[in-house]
Amino acid sequence: MTQLVVENLRKQFATRAGPLTVLDGVDLSLPSGESVAILGPSGSGKSTLLHIVGTLDTPTAGTVRLGDTDPFALGEKGMAEFRNRSIGFVFQEHYLLPELSVLENVLIPVLATQTIAAEQRDWAMELIERVGLADRADHRPGELSGGERGRVAIARSLVCKPMLLLADEPTGNLDPRTAASVMELLLKLQTQTGTMLIVVTHSEAVASLLDRRMYLEEGRLVEDRQTAVDG
Ligand code: ADP
Ligand code: MG
Repeated sequence: MTQLVVENLRKQFATRAGPLTVLDGVDLSLPSGESVAILGPSGSGKSTLLHIVGTLDTPTAGTVRLGDTDPFALGEKGMAEFRNRSIGFVFQEHYLLPELSVLENVLIPVLATQTIAAEQRDWAMELIERVGLADRADHRPGELSGGERGRVAIARSLVCKPMLLLADEPTGNLDPRTAASVMELLLKLQTQTGTMLIVVTHSEAVASLLDRRMYLEEGRLVEDRQTAVDG
């Protein structure tokens, strides 16, 4: 069943030189549980697309449907609640709060909308175990390596059991070997939880690990020819 449908998405930014068209008719459908890599040169609009699909920015035109919901029809408060409940994010910079422990960082998305029940604390601890940091739950981010911080960000992104997981260059700051192990972990957890996954990357090696690869070219998404031929 198709769970994410993006249709004819357009995004223009107003700049001093006039309107800048970044997305010019993006279409994307994702069945539940599927992963897709979005490749494209710097400045091609990958982050812009991910932000709009994640409801962190609004489209100039076009539609996004996640499950039965058009998030942009919900109003600001409804959209924020929907985002918190349904969408997980992993960013290159991770944005961990330095004064909080690993466990507290993982629980931040829960705290945004509700008080933490034992059940959520247990799930957060389970995720921390699954990313291999059980003995680090009390540590601060400053005491962890870059790869370990990436793993905390992955655990945090899944704490609300999102329908859709969005990752923007999640391994961009890591050496190739650490990047590969963080990506493997991300994909393992994605498979276990059944969430849809979109990974923006400029790494063909990272992209090759996902179910599908698409390229952002001149404001549109095109299927990787190799993928199309191979089915
Ligand atoms: P990518 O992630 O593929 O490197 P981005 O989505 O960050 O690309 O940016 C695509 C283009 O949109 C770039 O030319 C960038 O300068 C422009 N852009 C992004 N955000 C804004 C903004 N808020 N205002 C104006 N231009 C923007
Ligand atoms: Mg970007």
